[in-house]
Amino acid sequence: MIDLHCHSYFSDGELSPTELIDLATSQQIQVLALTDHDTVSGLSEAIHAAKEKPITFLPGIEISVKWKKQAIHIIGLGIDSTNDRLLKLIDFQEEKRAARAQEIAIKLEACGIFATLETIKEHCPSNSMITRAHFAKLLVEWGKVKDFKQAFTRYLGRGKPAFVATSWVEMEEAIDVIHASSGLAILAHPLRYGLTQTKLRNLIEAFVSYQGVAMEVISGQISAKEVAIAAGLCHKYELLASVGSDFHGFALGHAQLGVKQALPEICTPVWTDLIKK
Ligand code: AMP
Ligand code: MN
Ligand code: MN
Ligand code: MN
Repeated sequence: MIDLHCHSYFSDGELSPTELIDLATSQQIQVLALTDHDTVSGLSEAIHAAKEKPITFLPGIEISVKWKKQAIHIIGLGIDSTNDRLLKLIDFQEEKRAARAQEIAIKLEACGIFATLETIKEHCPSNSMITRAHFAKLLVEWGKVKDFKQAFTRYLGRGKPAFVATSWVEMEEAIDVIHASSGLAILAHPLRYGLTQTKLRNLIEAFVSYQGVAMEVISGQISAKEVAIAAGLCHKYELLASVGSDFHGFALGHAQLGVKQALPEICTPVWTDLIKK
């Protein structure tokens, strides 16, 4: 099994990088990439944990980017996490995330929900990236909403009382920085942005025009029909294909670690060359 997209507690995942590597090896996953939101903080621990283990570990990141006012996720796979431009980009995103988290907390206070950010910070490593998922988890724990999804439909989603629009790095810049740091830029979960067919094609065309090289064809809990649609687009735009569970942990109702489905035959896997390195 392969899995090129998952999260540790250095962003909104539940497990440490070491626990992820242990889980992956216990499930006979041969290739794993850790792709935390806008941070490389977990990579050195994962690299260390993967040593002497029967697994190929690929350092990665999932960057939130801006494309036509839309928030899109771009995976950088096989990145050199010491690259200056990458570290600058991460600083930029970290500032945006820190400011946004504060604004979300203030907006939640206006809804009568206090001390969210302090509580979140008590429970995660000091250098982890705070995401809306952290707030969602807390709102569930505190009984303010019945589940994770409702945290977004009631408070955190676009147009809801605690939504804060964020101006992430431009997609073109993120792709360029990923390539400058020896990584491959992959368009994450293209069918999950709720775009019309035309907009989705426009997004992929923009991604290709900025030299993006691959897109996720199998992502999380995706249906066979969606895999076929994604594979068709991947083939049409001559992109390489990636697979990733987007695993965040056991409690959040996400997909489990490791992608069991096979890529459709029309797709060329993105990982072949990376494993040879
Ligand atoms: P952020 O990057 O801070 O906006 O946080 C978004 C994260 O929240 C995603 O990476 C998902 O892990 C999680 N999430 C879960 N459900 C939703 C949802 N319905 N809408 C947006 N994000 C969600
Ligand atoms: Mn996430
Ligand atoms: Mn994502
Ligand atoms: Mn993800």
